[in-house]
Amino acid sequence: MARQKNEVIIIGGGIAAHTAALYAARAELKPIVLQAASPDQLSLTTVVENFPGFPEGILGTQLVENAKKQAQKFGAQYVLAQADSFDIKKDYFEIVAGKEVYQALTVIIATGAAARRLDVPGEDKYFGRGVSTCATCDAAFYRDREAVVVGGGDSAMEETLALYKFAKKVTIIHRKNEFKASKIMQERVFSLKDKIEIIWGTEITEVLGDGQFVTGLKLKNIKTDEMSEIKTNGLFLAIGHIPNTKIFINKIQLDELGYIVTDKKSHINVNGVFAAGDCQDHIFRQAITSAGSGCQAAMEAERYIEKLKADGKV
Ligand code: NDP
Repeated sequence: MARQKNEVIIIGGGIAAHTAALYAARAELKPIVLQAASPDQLSLTTVVENFPGFPEGILGTQLVENAKKQAQKFGAQYVLAQADSFDIKKDYFEIVAGKEVYQALTVIIATGAAARRLDVPGEDKYFGRGVSTCATCDAAFYRDREAVVVGGGDSAMEETLALYKFAKKVTIIHRKNEFKASKIMQERVFSLKDKIEIIWGTEITEVLGDGQFVTGLKLKNIKTDEMSEIKTNGLFLAIGHIPNTKIFINKIQLDELGYIVTDKKSHINVNGVFAAGDCQDHIFRQAITSAGSGCQAAMEAERYIEKLKADGKV
């Protein structure tokens, strides 16, 4: 195994990682970005209309690709490799990715989170063509159309409220007979009876489509096993996210949902390690907030390295 020493290693391949790489590269920290093969969240969306600076909108894939190119332009080096392990050494950090061992004075974790999927037929086929994980991003496409939200937590309520502004009808499908969302969010949804229908105790067994876009869903009543179908133009998955933080378990502080605990400056509970993007944010999960936290993490990493140098530690 070869060993490489670096000032900054960034783990991730989404907008948070690219932004951190851009800032770190411009600060001449020569960042190495370990990018896994699996796509980031933005690359799974279609048009992004809420990233400032793109009045006509921009494809999620394009936005991420542009950010990566911009970071590379200033010298960020990308390695297509999945980080398999992370270890805290005495005065550096060690990451094994593929066959390589990487050592770094600072690490920026931007590993993202994956939206939980239903794992039913049709879900993958129509992903991005009616199946979505972000109403904030896609709700405007549902003007005068119908949409279904699946889930019973705060995200499901939020997705419903975002869609309500545009869609002519929003149906929430939940497997239980009550929501787990906070009361205030539930009440907001319950108060909008005109365009919102709730189907309780029901699971989605298949996403139906015409080959191009979603046209409906197959449903099963959990109590009676009765099967039915409904028509819809879209399905919004709001059944939780899974942060990609497995390799950090028992190494750094994670919250009860597995998200990395950060402070306002993107610091975590280990000096020299910073976290950005969805792996540390289950509330906003937006491209712009991810990019912002990537910027913060890189600026703090730069400060940390400067201090190490000033103290004569490196
Ligand atoms: P949650 O884990 O809170 O809720 C997930 C929901 O999806 C649950 O109702 C769950 O059902 C359902 N679910 C899970 N798996 C499946 C499945 N396979 N099939 C069908 N349904 C399924 O996730 P959220 O994303 O809603 O929230 C995550 C955290 O973020 C929470 O702490 C929440 O409070 C917070 N949040 C806060 C917001 C805010 O304050 N504005 C906005 C969004 C999130 P069941 O009820 O049966 O478990």
